[in-house]
Amino acid sequence: MIHFVGAGPGAEDLITVRGARLLGLAGQIIYAGSLVNPALLAYKQEGCRVYDSAGMTLEEVLDVMRQGEQEGVDTVRLHTGDPALYGAIREQMDALEERGIPYDVTPGVSAFSGAAAALKAEYTLPQVSQSVIITRMEGRTPVPERERLREMARHGCTMTLFLSTGLLEEVERELLAGGAYTPDTPAAIVYKATWPDEQVFRCTVGTLARTAREHQITRMALITVGAFLEGAYERSKLYDPAFTHGYREGRS
Ligand code: SAH
Repeated sequence: MIHFVGAGPGAEDLITVRGARLLGLAGQIIYAGSLVNPALLAYKQEGCRVYDSAGMTLEEVLDVMRQGEQEGVDTVRLHTGDPALYGAIREQMDALEERGIPYDVTPGVSAFSGAAAALKAEYTLPQVSQSVIITRMEGRTPVPERERLREMARHGCTMTLFLSTGLLEEVERELLAGGAYTPDTPAAIVYKATWPDEQVFRCTVGTLARTAREHQITRMALITVGAFLEGAYERSKLYDPAFTHGYREGRS
């Protein structure tokens, strides 16, 4: 059986209990060495084979999986963060379906959650933003026309940008072109969220590129944008003494 497992954003104790258990039972692990903290391999059992997928093609990954099936051992395919986001797991799952190889998926803590923790921030503040856009700047992987960054930026809500750290000049331009953010809108660059060498740079939309340049951040960073990062908000209804809901009677 093949287990797709979310490794979490970095820290080795931010994998799920289920994910760690599966690592401990695997006969082979294929992990994305460019992004997954190698410290997670400490969960593996003795004799477990380890493959770094950074230098492998989809076909090579599938060959290793098939080999594991023939030997009757479990394979863990370890993906950074949550595998459902920019994980390229669909193509692997489809290929396994075609070959009749069973698989399952264990979710993980995504980098956008790790970044919020690093920032000690809440993405969804009343009267500030109640939506989070998870997107990326177009790079070599195309982005559908209607999801161009400037289109997404029209909402002015909380935004998190994956895979975009090397393109921050364009990011700035696109964010401003949306018309809802200004050069002074708060932004942050979170480098290696939850890793031992995590770094947080608070800046603004207008200073994203400069900030990354000054600190030589070119990869492994998540960009967050929006008024959630500082300033006023309204307190929640849920914990307001005057608010009645299914579990509590409000008092005036
Ligand atoms: N599936 C992953 C994302 C994979 S795409 C997840 O859910 O987090 C890889 C991109 O994720 C990187 O380019 C970077 O933008 C972001 N990323 C991954 N780990 C990160 C971390 N610890 N800190 C900041 N950004 C991270």
